[in-house]
Amino acid sequence: MKNLFEKFGIEITKEQEEKFEKYYQILIEYNSKFNITAITEKEDVYKKHFIDSILGVDKFDVGKLIDVGSGGGFPAIPIKIMKEEIDLTLLEATGKKCEFLKAVVRELDLKNVTVINGRAEDIAREESKREKFDMCSARAVARLNTLLEYCMPFVKVGGKFISFKGDAKEEVIEAENAIKVLGGKLEEVKEYTLEDAKRALVVVKKVKSTDKKYPRGQGKERKNPL
Ligand code: SAM
Repeated sequence: MKNLFEKFGIEITKEQEEKFEKYYQILIEYNSKFNITAITEKEDVYKKHFIDSILGVDKFDVGKLIDVGSGGGFPAIPIKIMKEEIDLTLLEATGKKCEFLKAVVRELDLKNVTVINGRAEDIAREESKREKFDMCSARAVARLNTLLEYCMPFVKVGGKFISFKGDAKEEVIEAENAIKVLGGKLEEVKEYTLEDAKRALVVVKKVKSTDKKYPRGQGKERKNPL
């Protein structure tokens, strides 16, 4: 599958290629029991999960990264395979998916990875996690205005939140207030295509500390977004 990465302009080492192969095998092995992804055909998994996760890898610096709503580990595990110096925390609400994530971390022998089974609204209130990360990532978890309330509290002032979206235009406009209220500043919306699919990376820089009242909890982030 090295050729497929090259087709998208991504160079990988033999070791990284082996890690992606192993990741694919574990994903298929666990998928029937754990319902991790609807995409199972090998080339599709590579394109829609692995390559989609790493097309923006240059936006990620070495440091502490938290991935919110990791599910099957996307985008953070592919990013970790490409940049192994990253200190990674995977946050996922579903216990079974956390079991899967732990198996991937163990089997791929990934160092400095912590898996947390919990909801962002709760974990973001913990002193040891609040404003402790250089970067936060999320893909396919919620609309941007809701997602910002889950994610921005984790990010240190000076750090950034990177959201993986499809067509982001409307969501970015809708999230203008949330970005401001939570202490962010829109840094960049990088739009690109993955074959025919529109993709976007929305990068929000944290410029001010987030007020302790966020995230509000009790589902307010979704029901009544900022
Ligand atoms: N990020 C993965 C991807 O792109 O394939 C998974 C996407 S899946 C559609 C959304 C995941 O986010 C689910 O596994 C769900 O359990 C998790 N999730 C949703 N809301 C969450 C929250 N508030 N805190 C933690 N995890 C959450």
